[in-house]
Amino acid sequence: MRTVNAYAAVSATEPLVPTTIERRDVGPHDVLIAIDYAGICHSDIHTVRGDWGPITYPQVVGHEIVGHVAEVGAAVTKHRVGDRVGVGCESGSCGECEQCRKGQEVYCLNGNLQTYNGADVDGTITQGGYSQAIVVNEDFVLKIPGSLDLARVAPLLCAGITLYSPLRHWNAGPGKKVAIVGMGGLGHVGVKIAHALGAEVTVLSRTLSKQEDGLKLGADHYYATSDPATFEKLAGTFDLIINTVSARLDISEYVNLLAVDGTLVVVGAPTEPISVDGMSLIAFRRSIAGSANGGIPETQEMLDFCAEHGILPETELIGASQINDAYERVLSSDVRYRFVIDAKTFA
Ligand code: NAP
Ligand code: ZN
Repeated sequence: MRTVNAYAAVSATEPLVPTTIERRDVGPHDVLIAIDYAGICHSDIHTVRGDWGPITYPQVVGHEIVGHVAEVGAAVTKHRVGDRVGVGCESGSCGECEQCRKGQEVYCLNGNLQTYNGADVDGTITQGGYSQAIVVNEDFVLKIPGSLDLARVAPLLCAGITLYSPLRHWNAGPGKKVAIVGMGGLGHVGVKIAHALGAEVTVLSRTLSKQEDGLKLGADHYYATSDPATFEKLAGTFDLIINTVSARLDISEYVNLLAVDGTLVVVGAPTEPISVDGMSLIAFRRSIAGSANGGIPETQEMLDFCAEHGILPETELIGASQINDAYERVLSSDVRYRFVIDAKTFA
């Protein structure tokens, strides 16, 4: 075991505090990663505030992790000391079910192991990336292409793959009209990736305050959802809508923006149920779907795609002592567009 510095939530209502946590010894198939940067995902906030149900405290969150390999187990073949690597939302899975065999560990039929707040095989609760180091099975460690700035790349490990996977699955590309709902951490990366895939990209944001940024990042069109005219004008338009919003939305309004055979994919994860008028689906053979992040092979494919297309998240680098302020700023959508914590400041 080794003790490392970290920042932990101690309850659903108190600020995160500096602490220390234990990392397991490096097993034969494990990699010890010295963390350089960790992104702040809105899911971290949902988790520590109990939005998705009660959790065990103290809890260290963070599933957008990048760093360098500091040590490898005797049987490790995929990574070497010094490599630039990353870890995303999953750190383990059964490895045997149909989904794991397909490289879709995120959809493991026996339940994947979440990088934080997951029940580990040894009975402990996994602790995530707001820390100096982490020990992860080599199969769940991604390679970070050399051209991607390590200080900005971390959000690709969750936000990036969570948008890349549905964009690929529903064939975003030339001739396809794609709308991204919400210009936040997930949404802004989605704009960049959908644009690089060749789709015609529209941002649907509450206001036009981030329009200039959206167009610069690759959007072709930008509309305010606070303007009712938007819903009239765009009715029946999109082949694919990806909803990244962290709060309850009237989904039926967005379903009406789908073209015939269009799909609305939910990736934003508030807890309220979704309600839709069935006739609006039936009349134009529309679908509603959900999507989690992505399997390990697809996550590596996404990182390589981003390297090839020069895609990096727009980030604001902060120190550990600013995490609580950053949470408030995420909650008030005052972030352009992802906070990344410099792990040196956990020292
Ligand atoms: P974020 O940076 O806070 O972005 C969310 C965006 O939603 C905001 O920028 C805002 O966009 C919009 N929004 C926020 N409050 C709203 C409200 N009350 N009404 C309408 N729009 C609102 O969050 P994120 O990190 O991108 O995460 C977004 C959601 O995805 C979270 O629920 C998170 O847990 C979930 N998530 C899911 C997965 C998955 O595997 N499916 C992975 C990661 C995250 P505008 O200002 O442009 O309107
Ligand atoms: Zn996330």
